Amino acid sequence: MSRPPMPLSRLSTRVTVRLTTLSQPSWISIPLPHNSSTSVTIDTQKPILFVDVDGVISLFGFPSSQSDLPGRFHWVDGIAHCIPEEVGGRLERLAERFELVWATGWEEKANEYLPFILKLSVSALPVLTFGGRAVFGSSHWKLEAIEEYADCRPAAWIDDNIDDQCERWAKRREAPTLLVRTESPTGLTDKHVKQLLRWADEVAADQEHAAAET
Ligand SMILES: [Mg+2]
Repeated sequence: MSRPPMPLSRLSTRVTVRLTTLSQPSWISIPLPHNSSTSVTIDTQKPILFVDVDGVISLFGFPSSQSDLPGRFHWVDGIAHCIPEEVGGRLERLAERFELVWATGWEEKANEYLPFILKLSVSALPVLTFGGRAVFGSSHWKLEAIEEYADCRPAAWIDDNIDDQCERWAKRREAPTLLVRTESPTGLTDKHVKQLLRWADEVAADQEHAAAET
């Protein structure tokens, strides 16, 4: 079997690998680990977008008497979650410019349910784990895992519970950092997508400018 065109470019976060365990050799494309030592460099990687779920994708706090609900309900481990269909398309648009990473107390459950519910073109995203530190209604317990994953890469974070500790973390970072707050009854909107894409454009322009000067 001839090898398919190598899709790995300096802008790619995926790599093609040969499956040798099959009787017929085949090739698959898999995401690169975030600490990969390949030719993908910090300057050419997409920025990371850490994505919260409750209050961003799964909505709550809207009036229960509201006749026009913001989305369909889906059962996840016995709990009904209101998830608007439009959120899937919004995440797909963001995935063109960001490496999306689940940053949610759902942890692995996000991959078990959300790519299917949201009709995402990928079956799984990288996911942060928090060692039992998750507390509903706050977000600073995510900082350690976010800091470790982001390292020195540009990173945005969308969450309905950005607090002062998160703000201080963002200010301390040397790499470009953007915090985006959502409202739990409305979650991720087109306005947030526009804001994030504009920021990604600015980061890319700054990186190109810096590369041209070296
Ligand atoms: Mg939340």
